[in-house]
Amino acid sequence: MLGRFLNMGVEAYNFVSALNCILAQRLVRTVCEHCAQSVHYDDETLRASGLNPDEWRDFEFREGVGCIECGGTGYRGRTAIHELLDLTDSIREVILAKKPSSEVRKQAQREGMSFLRESAIDRVRRGLTTLKEINKVTFIEASR
Ligand SMILES: [Zn+2]
Repeated sequence: MLGRFLNMGVEAYNFVSALNCILAQRLVRTVCEHCAQSVHYDDETLRASGLNPDEWRDFEFREGVGCIECGGTGYRGRTAIHELLDLTDSIREVILAKKPSSEVRKQAQREGMSFLRESAIDRVRRGLTTLKEINKVTFIEASR
């Protein structure tokens, strides 16, 4: 997301001096309340989604099986997930030095930024959406 923004062709200095923060937002579909069921995932599936099996093995994920209310999709409605990049002095420096966006992310992580993926996992934890849905919308971070 950030990479796309930085590659928009805007001179870095112009926008970095003009903005306080960059908000990225995505919509994910929410589980249909009429046909929601609890499901568990095996370790392999959890790992493939970047989740620690020890933490998530016993977690009751929610998924809609599909009903007349949701037209058989298992989803009804949407909720937003987001990440907010606070353009602190140190982050401005990294951007103005024309470092790759991965460097900006690293610096943001050091400063406690919460990323889109974490926001998405929070919605899964609260039973609002499914692991499959967020895997379609956000990337799995390979390294933590
Ligand atoms: Zn339904």
